[in-house]
Amino acid sequence: MRERAVSLPALTEIAHRAVARAFEARALPKGGDGVPAFPFAVDATAGNGYDAVFLARQVGEGGLVAAFDVQEAALAATRDRLAAEGLLGRVRLVRSGHEHMERELARLFPALELRGKVTAIMFNLGFLPGSDKAVTTAAPTTVAALDAASRLLTYGGVLSAHVYTGHRGGMEEDRAVLAWSAALSPEEWRVLSLSQPNKARNLERLILAERLFPKGKGGAGRP
Ligand code: SAH
Repeated sequence: MRERAVSLPALTEIAHRAVARAFEARALPKGGDGVPAFPFAVDATAGNGYDAVFLARQVGEGGLVAAFDVQEAALAATRDRLAAEGLLGRVRLVRSGHEHMERELARLFPALELRGKVTAIMFNLGFLPGSDKAVTTAAPTTVAALDAASRLLTYGGVLSAHVYTGHRGGMEEDRAVLAWSAALSPEEWRVLSLSQPNKARNLERLILAERLFPKGKGGAGRP
């Protein structure tokens, strides 16, 4: 039986829309020092590769995506999906925990100073569907990775974190991600939290955080 379509968008769709807007805004000619020569994005949890494909489209030809995962199965699925779309050339697959993203990016791209230059960073937390449910993201490493991501993001850049609580440690991870987002300075970040308040089990949450341009710099400043 086909499921009836619902009208409200899925959280994934909202995340993609928000990230796409960061790329649209960045595409406007701004000039100035420190503007990277090409768009760069990070997929912090490659999983089945849907976000890597999405980000590879967003960065465009000449742009780059780094996609992290600790599982070879996830990186293989992501590689296949990217190859099928002809997008593999835009993505570096990194078998490493996202909590090490700054170190790994410095190692992989020694010529690039990516701090404050990344347009979008996406997290899709939990376990890889159809695989080993014992391998999940976890609050301490997720929070370390979110901290790293917040340092990498450019002004106007968007970070998304899609939390799934349907695994052991999922509720703790949700609380940790929400607390992390709540601690971001409102002067520097615009933060949205979308969740399902009427769901007691397996609720999902989407945190969106945009790094705001500093006030008084006329929108031209960059980190
Ligand atoms: N719950 C989502 C999918 C999440 S996939 C859904 O239902 O669609 C999450 C991915 O994160 C998995 O592939 C897993 O291997 C990966 N992962 C777990 N810990 C990680 C870490 N420390 N760094 C990077 N990826 C990690």
